[in-house]
Parts: sequence; C-alpha cells; structure tokens
Amino acid sequence: MADTLFLDDWDALTRERDARFAATLDRVFAYHPFYKDLLTRARLRRRDISGISDLAKLPVTTKKDYLANPGNFVLAWPEAASAEESIIWDVMHTAGMSGVTGTPAPLVSTNYDFFNILALNRNILRLCGASEADSILNLFPLTRHPQGAFARVMNAAAAFNIPVTAAMPGSPNARQPDIGNSLDAVVAIAARSEATILWGVPSYIRKIVARAEEMGVVLAHVRLVFATGEGFAEQAQTEIVERLKRLSANDPRVSVSYGASEMQGGMVECVPGSGYHNPAPDQFCFEAVDPDTHKPVPDGEEGLILLTRFDRRGTVILRYSLGDVGRLTRERCPHCGALTERIVGLPRRMDGFSSRSAGGWSIPRR
Ligand SMILES: [Zn+2]
Repeated sequence: MADTLFLDDWDALTRERDARFAATLDRVFAYHPFYKDLLTRARLRRRDISGISDLAKLPVTTKKDYLANPGNFVLAWPEAASAEESIIWDVMHTAGMSGVTGTPAPLVSTNYDFFNILALNRNILRLCGASEADSILNLFPLTRHPQGAFARVMNAAAAFNIPVTAAMPGSPNARQPDIGNSLDAVVAIAARSEATILWGVPSYIRKIVARAEEMGVVLAHVRLVFATGEGFAEQAQTEIVERLKRLSANDPRVSVSYGASEMQGGMVECVPGSGYHNPAPDQFCFEAVDPDTHKPVPDGEEGLILLTRFDRRGTVILRYSLGDVGRLTRERCPHCGALTERIVGLPRRMDGFSSRSAGGWSIPRR
C-alpha cells in the first residue's frame, strides 16, 4: 500500500515538497495579505527561504492571528491569474473557533486545492484499510455553516470511486424539515445501504449501533468504523465492536482520527497504536516546537504541533499552531511502511480553543 501512496525516501519527498513550497511561496510573496506583511516585518525576502528546511525562519502563526482576519490568509489573486489556481471551489468553515469569535472562520479552497483535498481524502481511506469493495455511510449532520466533516466524506467516496449514502441525521433546516432523519430512520438507512464503513462522530455512532440492536436490525456488512470529532474511550470502542458483532458484523474495526478543519481531513492510524499519519506529506508538513520559545524540539519529544499547508492556492497557512501538543516522528511506519510524519500517542489540547463541535474535526479526547 505504502509503495503507491508515499514516496520511498525522505530525499525524494523533500525535493517534491520543496518544489511545491517554492511555487506556493512565489504566490505568497506576491499575493498573500498576511504573510507579505509578516515576512516584510521579519525582514525575510523570497530568496531567504529555499525550501521546507527554512520553514523555521518564519514566525509561528496562531489561531488568534488567523481569527483576527481569516480573509487575510487567502491569496488575493490578480484577475489574470490561471483559472485552476484562482477559481474558488468551496468555502468550508472551522468549527472549534466559534466559541471564541462568534462565527466560524472560513477556509477557502480553489479548484487547485479541491483536487488536493480529493487526493488527501483518498489517502485517508487507503491508510485506514478501505478497499474498492467498500461503501460508506456518512453519519455527519448538516451544519449551519458548510463544514468539512459532512462534505469531505462525500468527496472521499468520490475520490475513491466507491458508493456513499448520506444518512442526514437531525433536522438541519426548519423550512425543509423532512430533509433530516430521526435516529430510527437513520438505522433503517444504515441497514438498507449495506454500507461497510460507518463514518461519523463517536457518540452518534454509538447511538445508531445501540438503537439497531434494540430494533433487531442486522448490520452484517459493517467492517470499519471511522470516528472523529470528539473523544472515544477504548472501552466505548470495544463496546461498539462487540455490539456490531452481535449484529452479525464480521470482525469490525474502529479507526479514530486526529483531524482539523485546517486540514480538511485527518491524521489516521493504519493500525491501532501506529500513530496518526500525515496522510498527504506532499501537501502538508508538521513540526513540533517548544510552546514558549517556538524552537524546534527533537523528534519523539512533546511539542506544540504546527501545520504548514505548503501546496494551497486559496487559504494558505504556514507554521500554524493547531493548539495541541504531541510527539512527532519521521521514522518509517513499521506497520504499513509509510514514510511521512506521524504523531505518536494522542495529542492534547493546550490552548483555550477546546470546545470544537462535531461539524468540523477535532482532536479525539478520551
Ligand atoms: Zn502505518
């Protein structure tokens, strides 16, 4: 699997990353309102940044910086710009910041970015062990603002060319109340869809599976449960697995992801305990730095996790603090062979932005 998913050595990956980062930087220095200003103030010129290895020269971007004006993080393209790079495909919103700002912050994806998002979500499915024989039941509800969780599950199925059924739990809209479905209706949809993958928020998946057992509904096809958006204790995972077995599922498995709206996807484990893999090392890189000094910490030591989206044309964020601390490794995964960053163990929140809602993605807390 890893042979086709990721490049086989760090030198090759670094060359690929540097090429993509260079193209992004050219545009950042020309069109990015926030970083143009920040880099000028930091006295950094384009030629001072030759590649990913120079990332540490850039100051860390905080959520506060981002929330102050999310529009300042979108490349301001000139009218004559190439279409694929500049056409806005969609605008998703962060979930977790709503408690702070009052409104979820927009993340703009251009046509160029959307293809990256398709590739990213396809990689997630591959890493989690999905196959062409699988089909997905999307258990995320619609939200007031468009958010990645619902939309990207649909996109993941598209990128992987497998069927998806959106169960549409809840009543998202008073004007069209019959669009959403009750718990019992969702259980019925789960049964008739014969989906092999349940994808949603742990607490809701638990409800569905428990209700299916009460109703005597068989969920024999389920083999994978993809959970994201909130904590999922080991015991609760075991409970779901045992219940699914009683509902005739054969050897079902739970996969928890460490996700973020800022990724429009999540870091996933290939097998439980293997660490959360960066699913698109050709689009994102991760660093761990000291939370106070922002100096890089050695691999394996706990540090503030930074995300750089070095291959984006809409919202571009560089060295962006996800607000979590965790231990990063760049060693080849001993299980799947992937060469990418992995976060070993569960990252933990360290900022005040802890009340992420289920519509986006968030760190799994136990
Ligand atoms: Zn792996």
